[in-house]
Amino acid sequence: MSKLRFQALKETLSRQPIEVKDPARRSEIFGKNVFNEPVMRQFLTKDSYKSVMDAIENGSKIERNLADHISTGMKEWAISKGATHYTHWFQPLTGSSAEKHDAFFETVEDGSAIEKFGGTALVQQEPDASSFPNGGIRNTFEARGYTAWDPTSPAFILGSTLCIPTVFVSYTGEALDYKAPLLRSLQSLDQAATDVVKYFNKKVTKVNATLGWEQEYFLIDSALAASRPDITLSGRTLLGHSPAKGQQLDDHYFGAIPSRVLNFMRDMENECMLLGIPVKTRHNEVAPNQFELAPIFEEVNLAVDHNLLLMDVMEKVADRHHFKVLFHEKPFAGVNGSGKHNNWSLATSEGVNLLSPGSTPMKNLQFLTFFINTIKAVYENEELLRATIASASNDHRLGANEAPPAIISVFIGSQLTEVLDELEKVTDGKLSPQEKTELKLNVVGKIPEILLDNTDRNRTSPFAFTGNKFEFRAVGSTANCANPMTVLNSIVAKQLKEFKVEVDQLIKEKKMKKDDAIFNVLRDYIKKSKKIRFEGDGYGEAWEKEAEKRGLSNNKKTPEALKVKLSDKTIELYESLGVMNRVEVEARHEIEVEEYAMHIQIEGRVLGDIARNHVIPTAIRYQNILIENVKGLKEIYGEANFKKHASEQLTLIEEVSTHIEKINKGITEMINERKKANKLENQEDKAFAYCNEVRPYFDVIRYHCDKLELLIDDELWPLTKYRELLFTR
Ligand code: ADP
Ligand code: MG
Repeated sequence: MSKLRFQALKETLSRQPIEVKDPARRSEIFGKNVFNEPVMRQFLTKDSYKSVMDAIENGSKIERNLADHISTGMKEWAISKGATHYTHWFQPLTGSSAEKHDAFFETVEDGSAIEKFGGTALVQQEPDASSFPNGGIRNTFEARGYTAWDPTSPAFILGSTLCIPTVFVSYTGEALDYKAPLLRSLQSLDQAATDVVKYFNKKVTKVNATLGWEQEYFLIDSALAASRPDITLSGRTLLGHSPAKGQQLDDHYFGAIPSRVLNFMRDMENECMLLGIPVKTRHNEVAPNQFELAPIFEEVNLAVDHNLLLMDVMEKVADRHHFKVLFHEKPFAGVNGSGKHNNWSLATSEGVNLLSPGSTPMKNLQFLTFFINTIKAVYENEELLRATIASASNDHRLGANEAPPAIISVFIGSQLTEVLDELEKVTDGKLSPQEKTELKLNVVGKIPEILLDNTDRNRTSPFAFTGNKFEFRAVGSTANCANPMTVLNSIVAKQLKEFKVEVDQLIKEKKMKKDDAIFNVLRDYIKKSKKIRFEGDGYGEAWEKEAEKRGLSNNKKTPEALKVKLSDKTIELYESLGVMNRVEVEARHEIEVEEYAMHIQIEGRVLGDIARNHVIPTAIRYQNILIENVKGLKEIYGEANFKKHASEQLTLIEEVSTHIEKINKGITEMINERKKANKLENQEDKAFAYCNEVRPYFDVIRYHCDKLELLIDDELWPLTKYRELLFTR
């Protein structure tokens, strides 16, 4: 085994950067592999083109006979680009994307063959989906699942396959994927926000939610990754002592990107360009070998698809460059973890960002309306928001090393805090003309168009306002953004609907003017949602205590965090908006707790194996060397004098024995707890058992293994060390 470690190091040190050819201009290749508007105009009949555009813009249905034209156009384009296969690309509840490839090729009766892709094949497919998680939906309803074309996300070519973004639903209509509820939440938010925006601008016909994600990741050499069974099987290191040098010096952040990595990035970005993923920013992150990539923001549905596609592309391109991408939220203990900040905003059909302050008091009142409603929505649903980012892997990140804690709070910066404080003082009821003028001129009118970005100091806020968007920072790097986005869209949609009702009531019943009514409701919301606002440092005991006083939830581990997903309030929220029904909600919860238990189970097995099969045998081998040495000293110096020379060795022999004993005991007890947990029928009980009874042994076992790493001869140690994983380039 230690041979593998040294071979991997040798291989890594001898690597050369892989050459990458860049296009003269990126804009030239942008979207070249996407069935986008210009391509559709070229390959589709006028009617088909119009019907697709209508489906994209207004969600209208595409006529069956037009689907045949569209599929033919799509096929011709795909073949012209070298595609031979097509697939319905979908997002089952496993967290990654799924696809099953079919060839365009078909034989005909006279024995010859043609390339065929009919409307039916485009619109609907029935994947053999029995192996995708469904939380019992399919058993309960004896329904089969099918994938249905989502025209709002354009088809694209990956390798030699035409990929058609689809939703995955059961025949009884239940969503079996992440995308169907996301689309429903977007529709609901569009309706609610458009209704509210009409207070300010009657011409707006649609409101789109926008998302700009920031993907953090670690990159390590593939040979080094392969030398660690824990990285290979669980995506993170389950043991390993911290290196003498970590990220203390902060010398990696924004430093020069190493050339092998840079070539990987260029290659990946070129692939992204072809796929129409508008990546823009790249840089080193805080931890050694940690990096970040961010695109220009897009409409949420497209941005979600693009993030998922990107993760796929990254893995493939990394292979070419002999790297392994670690998306895990905490691949290395003691250094920063990886997140996926979700920057979210709302844009009108006229291109106005509703979360951007404007140049007039009226525009700012519109801004404040959406700003304050979002804060209120987060306050009312903080526990659900926390639940949507819960996963076994994100548990390691939240609350550690500069990451946000498990408590949701909103950071808005000092300028807007002042504005809200002023608004809170507004008179209850109708406003006098003076007060209103004063308010518009000196409070609302004074919001600067460009807000000072004073959020950089505060990297630990899980939900921060950053000038013209909210940034949900608690999302983990492995997450499918569809999950948090569905929740955020839904809670804001519900909030905006309530807001509309309240404002209309004041106008109708209290005969208030529109802006009086809006000021009144906003004032009320500012008061009610004050507890969610927190400008301080987002982690540590002081904040935990304070948050508890404020009544904010602090669910540290996944099984307890997920509980709220089943609450009546949550189900009512989703059902009232038509985002999900009870069956869908319960099925998802079932899948999530089951996945959690499996995750911990796998890690437990891997850790047990490594400790027993690699660490302990190495420790014994080293101990034997020490014993031989002591025996030799005894031979030379004799019974009476040898201890003087062998005292260090004797202590070491004992220490090694103690650690071996502790490791063995830990593994045996952990296995017993696993056996107990496995007997539990209820999936949620099982998740709790894995969380509370099994997982704590990881720390015990790791502690003693890491101690042995420090004691044992480096030449014998079989596992590639942290310093090698993090600093070998
Ligand atoms: P920086 O923080 O580096 O100055 P920005 O604040 O402009 O950069 O953007 C950070 C991220 O926020 C990017 O991924 C970007 O796409 C996204 N973003 C910017 N504006 C919006 C918006 N209106 N809606 C959603 N995401 C946005
Ligand atoms: Mg960010």
